[in-house]
Amino acid sequence: MNDSQLHNYILLGPPGSGKSTQANLLKSKYHLTHIDIGSELRHLAESGTDLGKVINEIINVKKELVPDGLIGQVVEHILTHTSAEQSILIDGAPRRVSQIDEVEGALASRGRTIDKVLFLDLSEEVAVKRISTRWLCQECKAPYIGTKEDIAHMGTCSVCGGSIGQRKDDTPEGVAKRYTVFMEETRPVIEYYETEGKLVRVDAMLAPDEVYAYIEKNIGSV
Ligand code: AMP
Repeated sequence: MNDSQLHNYILLGPPGSGKSTQANLLKSKYHLTHIDIGSELRHLAESGTDLGKVINEIINVKKELVPDGLIGQVVEHILTHTSAEQSILIDGAPRRVSQIDEVEGALASRGRTIDKVLFLDLSEEVAVKRISTRWLCQECKAPYIGTKEDIAHMGTCSVCGGSIGQRKDDTPEGVAKRYTVFMEETRPVIEYYETEGKLVRVDAMLAPDEVYAYIEKNIGSV
């Protein structure tokens, strides 16, 4: 990838496929603005506002997708604060066919088009297994990987001293439900971008550095 050019990437994958890890690697090497839709929604869910309560119910209790209109608003809001020369990585949208126009429309209104859609492909079995070892500081959100025993042994967050816990939707049932939603709602989006010739399908079973190397090699042709 030529990092002096403007690029617009989409990153999709089921829970546990390593989207955040790859987003952080790409972000630091290519200075991309990382638009993390799930994180923006969790932030809103914790806000205590009426809208936040509705979002909390959808993402943490029902483990479903939030209504489409909101996704366009989140992308719009972040693009408003992003320089026109800045390359971006949208992590987690469009996640439904009906969001394709919404996301592409928000990009098009700023003269942007999607270059590549990176799809991290992972089986449900591995997704559930991986998520059971995913933890984060409840205060500063620093990530941790380990068994329940490892985390108990560690005690508190080494960055800020906060308590370490799991995301509310990271229970085994929560991951299974989100995986089903991914297969039903997001698979057709993946298929759409495949027919558009924009899809980069990556085997997310590989180690993070191998996944990253594959992505770099395959976005190089943009
Ligand atoms: P993630 O951090 O990507 O796992 O997303 C966490 C949750 O946020 C998902 O399980 C959905 O409930 C919600 N979410 C994230 N992205 C979208 C989207 N594009 N459309 C609707 N809901 C979303």
